[in-house]
Amino acid sequence: MDIFKKCYDYKLADEAKEAGIYPYFHELTSKQDTEVEMEGIHQIMIGSNNYLGLTSHPEVVEASKKATLDFGTGVSGSRFLNGTISMHVELEKRLAKFVGMEEATIFSSGFQSNLGIISAIAGRNDIIFSDKENHASIYDGMKLSYAEVVRYNHNDMQDLEKKILLTKKKLSEKGIQKGMIIITDGVFSMTGDVADLPNIIRLAKKYDIRVMVDDAHGLGVTGKNGKGTHEHYNLMNEVDIVMGTFSKSLASLGGYVASNKEVINFIRHNSRPYIFSAAIPPSNTAAALKALDILEKEPQRVENLRIISDYMRGKLKESGLKIKDSNASTPIIPIYTFTPKRTMLACNILFKRGVYVNPVLPPATPPGECLIRTSYTATHTKDQMDRAVVKIVEVLNELKDYNE
Ligand code: PMP
Repeated sequence: MDIFKKCYDYKLADEAKEAGIYPYFHELTSKQDTEVEMEGIHQIMIGSNNYLGLTSHPEVVEASKKATLDFGTGVSGSRFLNGTISMHVELEKRLAKFVGMEEATIFSSGFQSNLGIISAIAGRNDIIFSDKENHASIYDGMKLSYAEVVRYNHNDMQDLEKKILLTKKKLSEKGIQKGMIIITDGVFSMTGDVADLPNIIRLAKKYDIRVMVDDAHGLGVTGKNGKGTHEHYNLMNEVDIVMGTFSKSLASLGGYVASNKEVINFIRHNSRPYIFSAAIPPSNTAAALKALDILEKEPQRVENLRIISDYMRGKLKESGLKIKDSNASTPIIPIYTFTPKRTMLACNILFKRGVYVNPVLPPATPPGECLIRTSYTATHTKDQMDRAVVKIVEVLNELKDYNE
């Protein structure tokens, strides 16, 4: 059988295009900002992860330009060999200090960070307890690790404890011991929920298990100074591994892992996605460094993000739309649109009327619980929010009786 058969048989995207509801790959013709140009339409952008509004900040852009002039367009190799520049090392030190860990090291993307961290730390003889709503990159990192994976219901600490006890019982019956780690998103990417870190840490201590938090959506967002989920809960020294990305609050591309010096040393010498892949270019490194500078100097951006997110959450609730409520003030606000077709249609009509939002469809949600994921930026204005709400309410009301 031809291995390409599945490609020739794949019709879903074309069908959506023909029906005029295909919501992907829209082209930006401006900077990523609170308002953007896409395909000739001026849009209020409420679908980006530019949480602190730094992607077009003049100092970030300037630092990135200067790095290209000073160091060239790429590093042409892995961090491990010829590809380390002084700025990489500086960024690692600054990140470790910011998130309150001993050391950090950086990867070429957030996705690659999870592949590289998890596959280095966990192996065939280990067990990973993983929240069912964890990000795809955690799932793929776990696959790459060959460790046994025990999934627990989303943020359900009773289920987690039950699964830990069951696992421990099986191991003791067999008379074997295994390394164990709990992995969770800090802020969940699709729902904006915050992990129940106090209880995860309590269970981890009780059963002698390590904890890793993916704070891709926590850095610059949660905690008074935007240090992440562990700052939000005042648990700065309790998490074993924190990972994050530069593609959201830090206005760039790349990822990092922070932990104690032994763990980071091990990852640097044993992680295949780290060793066998080229390091991030000077321009991205400089942009992340400058964005981190601004985050440290201007913690009010984190507060502004909270204010604008709360304002929008309040407005959407007032409007009577069904939103997925969060257990904390985060800038991710999902609005239920239920069916896949209705979701795609809503996104497309909103796009035509100048509001960019993202569709969340199966397998990211169960089929009847599709959403539009809206996300906010510290530099959004209340006027932009008011205009966006009017359009969202208008479009979702028009689609109220649409049953497909
Ligand atoms: N972890 C989480 C929780 C994410 O949401 C994402 C990206 N959306 C990643 C990791 C991967 O990060 P990146 O896009 O920077 O590769």
